[in-house]
Amino acid sequence: MDTMVKNKAISKEFDVESIRKEFPILSVKVHGRPLVYFDNAASSQKPLFVIKAIEKYYETVNSNVHRGVHHLSSLATDQFEAARKTIATHINANIDEVIFTRGTTEAINLVAYSFGEVFVKEGDEIIISHMEHHSNIVPWQILCQRKKAVLKVIPITESGELRMDEYKKLLSSKTKLVAVAHVSNSLGTINPVEEIIALAHAKNIPVLLDGAQAVPHMKIDVKKLDVDFYCFSGHKIYAPTGIGILFGKEKWLKQMVPFQSGGEMIKEVKLEASTYQDPPLRFEAGTPHIEGSIVLATAIDYMNNIGLDAIAKQEQKLLDYATEKLSAINGLKIVGQAKHKAPVVAFNIEGLHPYDVGVILDQLGIAVRTGHHCTQPIMDLYGIPGTVRASFSFYNTIEEIDVLVAGVKKAIDMLKK
Ligand code: PMP
Repeated sequence: MDTMVKNKAISKEFDVESIRKEFPILSVKVHGRPLVYFDNAASSQKPLFVIKAIEKYYETVNSNVHRGVHHLSSLATDQFEAARKTIATHINANIDEVIFTRGTTEAINLVAYSFGEVFVKEGDEIIISHMEHHSNIVPWQILCQRKKAVLKVIPITESGELRMDEYKKLLSSKTKLVAVAHVSNSLGTINPVEEIIALAHAKNIPVLLDGAQAVPHMKIDVKKLDVDFYCFSGHKIYAPTGIGILFGKEKWLKQMVPFQSGGEMIKEVKLEASTYQDPPLRFEAGTPHIEGSIVLATAIDYMNNIGLDAIAKQEQKLLDYATEKLSAINGLKIVGQAKHKAPVVAFNIEGLHPYDVGVILDQLGIAVRTGHHCTQPIMDLYGIPGTVRASFSFYNTIEEIDVLVAGVKKAIDMLKK
C-alpha cells in the first residue's frame, strides 16, 4: 500500500544501524541505559514505516468497511481487501483463503470450533505435540471435552526435537487433525513440517501449523507446504497487536460452520433463520480491525523491502553468536538445542531462578522474558520452573549480545554472593 514514509532499507546492503533508526523505540533508555530489546518472540517493535501508516489511515481513510457507498467507506474497503491480497501473495494463498483474526490464538480457536464442530466426533483423535504454546493446547482440550474426543501428544527429546518415530505411531484412522508449531516459541526448534504434513496427508489427515514464531523469520509458502491451516500474529511481524491471520484451504473452509456470528458474516437474515457468507467473510463477524489489517500488509511490505533472506541471514548470525557466547558461561545451560533453530536462546543458570536473573538484566536495560513462556508442559517435562529467553530480530546487534553476556555474568556474581 501507499505509505508516506519510505523504507530506507530498500535495495541497500543490510545496514543494521540505519535499520535501527527506523525503530524509534530502540533508542529509548531503560533505567538510564540503552534499551537492549531481546523479547522479540513475545512481540516485535514497530518501524516508522508502520507507525506512520497507522497515522495516515486515521488521517485520510478511517471509515467502516463493506457497508457504506460513501467515498471513505469505499476507500477503507479497497485498502482492507488490498491488504488481504498482499497477505495472500506473501504466503502464496488464494485471497479467499485468508481470514483476518485477532491473532494466532483466535485463529486456532476458530479452527478448533468451526472445523471441530463438523469433523470431530466421539472417539476421534487430535494430535498435538509436547512443545506447543498454550494457544495450541487448550482449544484442542476444550474441543476434545466437548466432543468426547481424545488428545494425543507427540513427545519431544531432551534437545527439544519432536520424536518423529512416535508421531508416526500416533497417526491412525481415528486422527482428525494434526496441530503443531512450525517453530517453538520457548525452544526455538524449527520442526520438520514438510515431513509432518506428508505423513499426515498419506492418511488423509489435515494439518494445522501454528506459524506465530515462523513468519517473522522465514518465507512461508502454504501451497508448497500443502498445509491445510496456517496461523500467525501481526504483532510478531512488526504490525500492531490485535490482528492476525488464519489461512485455510478452501475445501475445508467451505465446509466449516461460523465461529462467531452477527454482522458481516451473513448473506441474509430472517427472524426465523439466516444464511451465511462464503469464506473468508463467513469467519469475520462484526467490524474488523480495519487499520490493523491494512497495516499488517504494510508491515509485510516492510519485511519484503528488507528481504526475507537478509533478515534470516542477520538473525542466524545473532543466534550463532549468542549460542556460542552464552554456552561458554560457567553453569549456564541452554534449553532447546535442536539442530534447526529460530533466533531464540532460552537458558538457565545452575542454582539461580530465571526470574531473579531477569530482574537484574532489566536493571541493566536488557529486556528478556522469564517464566514458562506459555509452554508449561515443556517446563514440567524438563523439571524446571522456567527459563530466561532472549529472542532476536534483525534489528539486534552483536554488541547487544555482548551486553547480555556481560549482564548474565553480573547477575551470576550478584546472586551467587
Ligand atoms: N503460538 C506461538 C508459538 C506463540 O509464540 C504465540 C505467542 N507467544 C502464540 C501462539 C499466541 O499468539 P497471540 O498471543 O498473538 O495470539
